[in-house]
Amino acid sequence: MRSSNRTTVVTGGAGFLGYHLCKRLLAEGEWVVCVDDMSTGMQAHVDELAASGRYEFIRHDVREPLSLKADRIFNLACPASPPAYEADPIKTMLTNVLGARNLLDMAVENGARILQASTSEVYGDPLQHPQNEDYRGNVAIMGPRACYDEGKRCAETLFYDYHRTLKVDIRVARIFNTYGPSMRADDGRVISNFVIQALLGEDLTVYGDGSFTRSFCYVDDMIEGLVRLMDHEGDLPLPVNLGNPREFSINDVARTVISMTGSASKVVHLPEALDDPKVRRPVIDRARKILKWEPKIRLEDGLPPTIRHFARELSTLKETPRSHAVTKIFPA
Ligand code: NAD
Ligand code: UDP
Repeated sequence: MRSSNRTTVVTGGAGFLGYHLCKRLLAEGEWVVCVDDMSTGMQAHVDELAASGRYEFIRHDVREPLSLKADRIFNLACPASPPAYEADPIKTMLTNVLGARNLLDMAVENGARILQASTSEVYGDPLQHPQNEDYRGNVAIMGPRACYDEGKRCAETLFYDYHRTLKVDIRVARIFNTYGPSMRADDGRVISNFVIQALLGEDLTVYGDGSFTRSFCYVDDMIEGLVRLMDHEGDLPLPVNLGNPREFSINDVARTVISMTGSASKVVHLPEALDDPKVRRPVIDRARKILKWEPKIRLEDGLPPTIRHFARELSTLKETPRSHAVTKIFPA
């Protein structure tokens, strides 16, 4: 099928990754239907892409069934930032579980291929390092992150079950920490918090002693990986880690952001977050082998466009924006 005749549904399409993905699909000549309840999505993303003439926006909560014509479905609907997904844990869990069920049913109805945006959080606070796809994880079932981690695990299980029993053509991407331009200023994740704090000259809020690690993937690399995974022909009922295997401590990230912004900000250490994974780094051999994919953009090269994005955002806002972390320390 020529891509220009193809309709791709992207749930969560008004969010950070969804916006970049829709933009890429439109650039390839596809028709794109963005389904989003706008809980963390941005109207500016929708307005920009609507101008293409091949983009339709449907405001819809994926916890409710939906029936749309689709050749392919990317299921990205779910908040990704811990403060956002912990704010309404029941909604988060049900978005993952009912959202997956509803979108899988839509895939059955259409005979469509469907990709699930899963996460490195399925590995929880990992006891195996780095993490390959065979690792079964260490998730605290009663903890504040469980709504997200267990919700994503359950969604994956539904994907494998629909594949086994109904022969649905599935793809499962386990996405590791991704950052870049077009993130919300109040998103609450570490890169956006640190860059905003550095640009405002406020203390960078490191939770704990800063020795915990993450591996950061630039958004363009991630979108390339997601598109390759969706485009891959043949049966692929296996999860695929997508992320950048270069690992940084949170202290390293704070130092790098301060140096790249030329900020006079200092670092302040706050209490460690409950169940915060201590380490995280993907093994991406499967993506390298099957998709011929690996990330190309180093943190040092991905941070400048990200910093320019937030600097532009700050310059257009009338009131000083306050990130989750900033608000926590300095209530308005
Ligand atoms: P985001 O919060 O920017 O985007 C999520 C989008 O989903 C938002 O537009 C939001 O309004 C929408 N949404 C949330 N609940 C919904 C619901 N019930 N019905 C319809 N729409 C709903 O997050 P993101 O960083 O763009 O993440 C996108 C996807 O990728 C998520 O599924 C997330 O779990 C996954 N992921 C992202 C990362 C990352 O580092 N960015 C890492 C792992 C997994
Ligand atoms: N973090 C931090 N300060 C912040 C935000 C996050 O020290 O202002 C830490 C957080 O505790 C975690 C890491 O940075 O150890 C990554 O957090 P993020 O919320 O970006 O993503 P996560 O990988 O936890 O989902």
